[in-house]
Amino acid sequence: MRRLDPPAFDTRATYVTCISNARPTTKARLEALEEPVVSAGDQYETAAKNQALHDLKDLATQPVDKADRKALGKVYTNRMAKENVPGRAIYNAIKDAAKDLCPLCGIGKVTTIDHQLPKVKYPLLAVVPTNLVPACRDCNTGKGEEAPDTAGDQTLHPYFDDLFHVPWLAARLIKKTAPEPMAAQFYVSAPDDWDPVIVARLETHLRVFDLDDRYRLQVVNHLSTLFHMLSGKPHSGIAPFLAWKADCWTKTNPNSCESALYRALATDTWYVNGGWKQAAPAHPWSDPSDTADPLPPPDASAPT
Ligand SMILES: [Zn+2]
Repeated sequence: MRRLDPPAFDTRATYVTCISNARPTTKARLEALEEPVVSAGDQYETAAKNQALHDLKDLATQPVDKADRKALGKVYTNRMAKENVPGRAIYNAIKDAAKDLCPLCGIGKVTTIDHQLPKVKYPLLAVVPTNLVPACRDCNTGKGEEAPDTAGDQTLHPYFDDLFHVPWLAARLIKKTAPEPMAAQFYVSAPDDWDPVIVARLETHLRVFDLDDRYRLQVVNHLSTLFHMLSGKPHSGIAPFLAWKADCWTKTNPNSCESALYRALATDTWYVNGGWKQAAPAHPWSDPSDTADPLPPPDASAPT
């Protein structure tokens, strides 16, 4: 999970661009909705800055006319997300701003755009730029049409939430006896003085995007690679090495699955004192005698 700068696109200009080539009858309907869309965009941004997207339920009732609601949904689908339509350049710019890495999970490749508040329930927000978040397919599919009912139900917003610089994601090792592979469980461990609403939101984010389960798939590879790295080290060097790795990952992103995993490993006495040997790869092509460390510390002060 990581923060992104909000898109530098104005709601009105985006909407006007998207509807610019509509046929006269359709255009007249859509132009009549321009002010409600702009007003909805303003309300949305104020609420997002105040962690209050759950308070926008009145927006979900507008516009009342079913044909208007359907027409707004199509502005996104047919005039922004499709190739060779007026709004596609804006769509691409928003999607490309994540530079391929999904800001919602931190492990998936960006392939689409997710509506922070779903366009089916909030048609006035269908093309509001700050409601459009680059996402991988898993995150987009997993969230579906979910919208927050309470303050704690809000998933993190990459444009408006600034909760990415302090570690709040944690992991604990699940020890299993070979041949069962070791695993790790991911959970929220926020600083004690954080607002309970924020903690609830972090837990919502993990649940909605199924991050505990999806991160577990990454763990086996990390533990297997570590087996080779640690096999070449004296016992006294293992704890400092793991602490150094945890520090490197944490400096890169305090709430990535890797930083949480390495912090857990570095402080797990069982793992440090030899538990790591149980992560020996079972693949026939792996050679445990090959103990070369592919990622040596970058300077002499780093632990070896
Ligand atoms: Zn994702």
